[in-house]
Amino acid sequence: MKRIAILGSTGSIGTQALNVIRRHRDLFAVEVLCAGSNADLLISQALEFDPNAVVIADESKYNQVQDALSATDIKVYAGEQAMCDLMEMESIDMVLAAIVGFAGLRPTLRAIEQGKPVALANKETMVVAGALVTASAMRHRVPILPVDSEHSAIFQCLIGENSGLDKILLTASGGPFRGMKRDALAKVTLEQALHHPNWTMGRKVTIDSATLMNKGLEVIEAKWLFGVEAKDIEVLVHPQSVVHSMVQFVDGSVKAQLGIPTMETPIQLAFSFPERIESHLPRLDFAKYPSLTFEKPDREAFRCLDLAYQAIERGGNIPCVMNAANEVAVQRFIEGKIGFLDIADFVERAMQSASFVANPSLDDLLLTDKTIRNQ
Ligand code: NDP
Repeated sequence: MKRIAILGSTGSIGTQALNVIRRHRDLFAVEVLCAGSNADLLISQALEFDPNAVVIADESKYNQVQDALSATDIKVYAGEQAMCDLMEMESIDMVLAAIVGFAGLRPTLRAIEQGKPVALANKETMVVAGALVTASAMRHRVPILPVDSEHSAIFQCLIGENSGLDKILLTASGGPFRGMKRDALAKVTLEQALHHPNWTMGRKVTIDSATLMNKGLEVIEAKWLFGVEAKDIEVLVHPQSVVHSMVQFVDGSVKAQLGIPTMETPIQLAFSFPERIESHLPRLDFAKYPSLTFEKPDREAFRCLDLAYQAIERGGNIPCVMNAANEVAVQRFIEGKIGFLDIADFVERAMQSASFVANPSLDDLLLTDKTIRNQ
């Protein structure tokens, strides 16, 4: 029985992870549930899965959760610090990092420092602090298992390969605005941006998919997870989202991992690895996909992807700057305060004006994030 702590249990990834656990109760159990502010859902998840402890990051919701769970022996905590501290629980066998954004960094790092294997969905953690996270994982001999479908695919392609990686072919659906030029993109609405053709996800990652910033974040995530230079990671638009990514080797061979577009498969594999376990999900029916197509991304219309490559090139705290500016810009776009194309402009301006720190410590990154958000 693997006892799992879920950071971000009330989100899209968190709830799909609970679907996986619900179907494999003989293999997995929930040890800890952590949510941001959705107290109602956290309470119902706690009542169903009976964890040892729950944390609600929003401290104003503590009493509501405590009252609702008072008849149980589930321990209730509130606040970010409690989330980090609970990662020390000996009974946790694995942590699913599924908080959205920079907020996921500290608890994920703490889990690694405590020697807990991490199933990583929270890509912003790797974007902001890839050097610190991977160094800590090496030091504590902690596996980081990718949950992002592309990175899970790359990981699966690399299993059994000891050398000879030539390049990673990272696929992208292209999002709802694929094929549009800048004049059309200037007029798109929030509702259109939230309507992803293939995936149902949280709002932030859905907007990131529409701007292609999501793919930029994933390039950085892949660099750190697989130790590959950014120049050896090529983004390919693949609108069907069936080939989840590919790896090309030095002899010209290419391996791909395919499947229906669902996050439950990579979540389940991260939980069960190195075993593969049965899934009830529909099998890939090739007859339904008579053509699988690939094209180069339009990096002039979708500038966020280039900004991410620039951020890797500059290194240091610049990916952290990019991420903070993007989180704020996406939030402003969701609130209707800026337009779709302003997101890239916002991010670019922040990257141009930020003070550079070559080898940032965690404190430097926390300060960079705060400074950019305030700006
Ligand atoms: P959601 O917005 O659906 O969920 C985010 C989760 O994080 C919620 O549980 C939310 O809690 C919690 N949360 C937000 N802020 C805080 C905070 N300050 N402290 C503690 N918890 C917080 O996001 P997704 O599930 O879509 O995405 C999660 C991560 O996984 C992202 O990094 C995303 O890029 C990545 N990812 C997502 C995919 C998907 O299909 N959804 C695919 C691949 C990667 P609450 O709702 O209670 O406030």
